[in-house]
Amino acid sequence: MSTLTVDGLTVAFGGIKALDEVSFHVEPGEVFAIIGPNGAGKSTIFNAISRIYTARAGSIRFHGREILELPPHEVVRLGIARTFQNIELFEKATVLQNLLVGRHSRVRRSAWREFLFLPGVRRGERAARRKVEEILDLLDMQHLRDALVCDLPYGARKNVELARALCAEPELLLLDEPASGLNPEETADMSFWLKDIKEELGVTIVMVEHDMNLVGRIANRVMALAGGRVLSVGSVEEVQSNERVQTAYLGA
Ligand code: ADP
Ligand code: MG
Repeated sequence: MSTLTVDGLTVAFGGIKALDEVSFHVEPGEVFAIIGPNGAGKSTIFNAISRIYTARAGSIRFHGREILELPPHEVVRLGIARTFQNIELFEKATVLQNLLVGRHSRVRRSAWREFLFLPGVRRGERAARRKVEEILDLLDMQHLRDALVCDLPYGARKNVELARALCAEPELLLLDEPASGLNPEETADMSFWLKDIKEELGVTIVMVEHDMNLVGRIANRVMALAGGRVLSVGSVEEVQSNERVQTAYLGA
């Protein structure tokens, strides 16, 4: 069964359709890239999956289960985490604190259990710390753990956002332009980390990205979108050589 199945997804703002009957599926363990000019509807797909936007029509199934009726926190608990095109972190908190928040977004009722000193809290807390340490190691971020997010350069803040999403132990990770604003060296690091996330953690990744080098290095399949419609889905080469895709980019 596919990890994610999107069928006829339509999202509209007023009379304008940001997504018009978009359908695609994502298979377990793959890196699926979404490309397309600005305003194509790429971020809207993520906002519909994470239930920030409400769809007008269509369905989004995670392992066959319809998620369009769920509230946003339930989607995270099912195992879907995301990053944002514009970084969203607690700026005045440390890296470690941001990561622990990411962890708590997944663990059911942990805040109440902690408040009431219920059994199992200590164990849960230890597991959370272990997970956070694992992610800090994986992304080579141990030296940043006590830094305030607001003191970090842009590239490091992007890594913190990625790390926070991973601390929720997602099965499916939605990354909105993970390499935007990164220099070539940071982009190369990002591509290695994404490979590790896929191979070592076994996380399935859907990624919106403009950097076609990065897409070519790590994506198994690509979907090109323009004007809220799917133009082409296939290998990087297939999509790049598709005539409709080329026209959409020339017109952008
Ligand atoms: P992309 O991420 O591909 O650049 P978006 O998904 O952000 O594009 O936007 C697709 C279209 O939907 C654009 O025309 C955008 O203006 C519109 N749109 C997105 N979000 C909103 C919103 N909250 N309110 C009104 N229009 C929106
Ligand atoms: Mg976008």
